Amino acid sequence: KFITLEGGEGVGKSTNLKFITQWLTDHNIPFIQTREPGGTPLAEQLRELLLAKRDEPVDSTAELLMVFAARAQHLVQVIVPALERGEWVICDRFTDATYAYQGGGRQLDRSLIEQLEKTVQGELRPDKVLLLDLDPEIGLERAARTGAADRFESEHLAFFHRVRNAYRERAGASPSRYAIVDASQSLERVQRDLGQELERLL
Ligand code: C5P
Repeated sequence: KFITLEGGEGVGKSTNLKFITQWLTDHNIPFIQTREPGGTPLAEQLRELLLAKRDEPVDSTAELLMVFAARAQHLVQVIVPALERGEWVICDRFTDATYAYQGGGRQLDRSLIEQLEKTVQGELRPDKVLLLDLDPEIGLERAARTGAADRFESEHLAFFHRVRNAYRERAGASPSRYAIVDASQSLERVQRDLGQELERLL
């Protein structure tokens, strides 16, 4: 099974990833945990380049191509081999993040993303996308407290509303492949919801 965890800034991805991997361990399910952009040495280098602060404005298409370059490497080196070994793959962000950030946030043409998705992934898609959904005003406030939102000091709130809406739109269009979890709830309830979704995949 190929499971991805998605959401905007400050939705609690890291905390809930730990919950998910603990759940899999408790259920004796062999899995690997990985992330995007990243997951291999080369892809992690691309991630560093993507997240580095620089004066030069990064062209949206350049960013998109770097995200997919990292993904191509990650798929071949890590994700596909693990799936072939019969392991579950838990990936912190995947192509839905591209639709959300580069498509929604940066407003790149969706058909361009679709073309790259097809080229890089063929027919491979996550079996389940766990979407932590939260009002970006709350998420950014949370992220600011943990110092995780530095990169986006310059972005406007509207950017993050577009990110959230793009995620929700995709989830709404294929409800069987997505689980929208209300991340404004208590952590206990968020994890109860995540646990139920994982249970359904068994
Ligand atoms: O998952 P994490 O929050 O660590 O991601 C690091 C940063 O990369 C995030 O701030 C996220 O917004 C950004 N990102 C992006 N485009 C992607 C994936 C991640 O801008 N496709």
